[in-house]
Amino acid sequence: MSARIIDGKALAQRVREDVRERAVALKAKGIVPGLTVVLVGENPASQVYVRNKAAACEQAGMRSRVIGLGADTPEEELLDLIGTLNDDPQVHGILVQLPLPGHIDTGLVIETISAAKDVDGFHISNAGLLMTGRPLFRPCTPYGIMKMLESEDIPLRGAEAVIVGASNIVGKPMAMLLLAAGATVTLCNSKTQDLGAQTRRADVLVVATGRPGIVNGSMIKPGSVVIDVGINRLPEGGLVGDVDFKSAHAVAGAITPVPGGVGPMTIAMLLVNTIEAAERGAAS
Ligand code: NAP
Repeated sequence: MSARIIDGKALAQRVREDVRERAVALKAKGIVPGLTVVLVGENPASQVYVRNKAAACEQAGMRSRVIGLGADTPEEELLDLIGTLNDDPQVHGILVQLPLPGHIDTGLVIETISAAKDVDGFHISNAGLLMTGRPLFRPCTPYGIMKMLESEDIPLRGAEAVIVGASNIVGKPMAMLLLAAGATVTLCNSKTQDLGAQTRRADVLVVATGRPGIVNGSMIKPGSVVIDVGINRLPEGGLVGDVDFKSAHAVAGAITPVPGGVGPMTIAMLLVNTIEAAERGAAS
């Protein structure tokens, strides 16, 4: 057997087109949806991510603004800036690119962003709303994965879903979304004993650890759906996921590639969250 490839790039394109149409409708009411991204320091990977997010926003007909601050910017200055953005009615979404320099308290920064503009979905209020089944903003990566599963008509009710990796931005919110969809969820972390025994039970397997090759074909249930979130840069250039694609592809029923799988969907869902924020603003 050989797995069907879930094309995240093509689906992301469709999602972005839908956002563009919604942006046109808002503009007809005199509202230009706007995302402001704050980048502190000069981390090269962060610079690329920020550029891509800003470009995607512009292509979708939304206003994007990138505010770059020096790596030694005092925490107080960043918090003041977020306060100003919170009060600006032209700013519908605020995103502070992570990671932040070590002298800045990341948790405090996220809590300072207005929960109503927290398009990353990382604010503690948004995490709580998600956990209690009343989501406002869903974190972009797991939200994008849910869209991929939906577009592939993957049944989730009663399915065994196993997630490898339990971060606040991917694994934990993924668990909440799959649970809400009726799956039976297992969340694994670095202390999990016999990872293969867990992953082999999965009808839907999501892998998000940042450890290339942590899951291979021998750890996958035949015919299952494998979602590879990992983005790992090879020393010789190029990207690989956390799943050994070749061996997994031979066993799984469907699999996401890296690149071209979850990554494009993450950006697309940031646009969805921003347009939703602007639409909510327009309705209030
Ligand atoms: P993270 O914050 O470093 O969390 C990694 C998680 O993996 C932790 O929960 C950790 O367990 C777990 N883990 C590490 N080694 C493990 C092992 N041997 N067995 C089982 N679990 C293990 O990472 P993240 O931010 O979630 O990102 C994970 C990966 O996804 C990275 O490659 C990142 O670049 C990528 N990513 C991609 C996208 C996208 O759009 N495609 C978005 C976000 C992240 P403990 O909790 O025990 O430490």
